[in-house]
Amino acid sequence: MTNQRNAELCEKSRAEIKSLRAYQPGKPIDELAREFGLNADDIVKLASNENPIGPSKKAIAAMEKEARELTRYPDGNGFDLKQALCKKLSVGSVIIAPENITLGNGSSDILDFIVKCFVAKGDEVVFSQHAFAIYGLVTKIQGGECNVVPAKNYGHDLDAMAKAISDKTRLVFVTNPNNPTGTWLTQAEIAEFMAKVPSDVVVVLDEAYFEYVNEAEYANGLTLISNYSNLVVTRTFSKAYGLASLRVGYGISSPEVADLMNRVRPPFNVNSFALAAAIATLNDTDYVAESKSVNDAGMVYLTQSFDQLGLPYVPSVGNFISFEIPLVVNITAVEVDKKLLAVGVIVRPIANYEMPNHLRVSIGTQAENETFIAALIKILADARS
Ligand SMILES: *Cc1c(COP(=O)(O)O)cnc(C)c1O
Repeated sequence: MTNQRNAELCEKSRAEIKSLRAYQPGKPIDELAREFGLNADDIVKLASNENPIGPSKKAIAAMEKEARELTRYPDGNGFDLKQALCKKLSVGSVIIAPENITLGNGSSDILDFIVKCFVAKGDEVVFSQHAFAIYGLVTKIQGGECNVVPAKNYGHDLDAMAKAISDKTRLVFVTNPNNPTGTWLTQAEIAEFMAKVPSDVVVVLDEAYFEYVNEAEYANGLTLISNYSNLVVTRTFSKAYGLASLRVGYGISSPEVADLMNRVRPPFNVNSFALAAAIATLNDTDYVAESKSVNDAGMVYLTQSFDQLGLPYVPSVGNFISFEIPLVVNITAVEVDKKLLAVGVIVRPIANYEMPNHLRVSIGTQAENETFIAALIKILADARS
């Protein structure tokens, strides 16, 4: 009887929600430990592009201090974090003021706010094939339509994306570098694209992996904020800043668009631990430098290993890399993933990103990378014999 009533009630939910499926995160370590009877300490998780070196010690100290204030609501306007961001981000001709900043419970929050502000039922949102799953999810929740533009060499085809914009288009997502492919766009490419986009169409430039990129030509979206009132740049503390668990990210935009986003932002969406830890890590330049150098070394090690194993991969500038299990190795990507899980290595299958023959591995510590490669070598050798 209850089940029947539950089903009847759910039938009344909005059609947009009924057709959705919940976002599939990377498998948590404890879940795998339970399933396979493994020791959680022996499990290597390289599935969610998390920072492998542990949090900044300064972040932990800041949180310990904050713990004494647990009874108070956090600063709903994030005054101190905004001040710290303005100081950090205002470089050269770029001037960022608190009015340009919207704080999010992760940068995913900002992606949700901007879509809520601009996308109504039937409006179209343009993004690339192989782009971040959240874009489609937040669009569909609003009743928007996804216009997914075929990728070029696994990366964004910005010419095709500009051409895909129609009268129905309200918003475009551009990911630089892209997840899960690690492909990237230059300053010239982004500037040329912005010049083509109508000024009443919002462009969200998702720079979640900005801090990892070493390429001299890589675009910094913040340099274009003062020229384009339709540009929103998003960044996060979840990756290079090592605070994925706390959920804190931000959007940079014109003050007018930031004001719109603040209207849909839930009150106190960023908690006091997240605010304190974000400020502490932002000022811990050694921590970010260490994160980058571990990542750079891991990228060299993994790509050399894939080369030796004859596994093709998409060259990446992020903290992850998508590699292919080619047909000739006699085992599918799904099977490799299962066998990796059985020995306690979690990577990410990306069939839902239309890359069924690839797996995405996040770059870990050298020891984690070696565990992963050793397991992969054994699985491929077993498949060949
Ligand atoms: C990880 C990631 C984010 C950031 O997510 P948070 O909500 O800030 O943790 C945003 N965009 C892309 C493409 C990502 O991979």
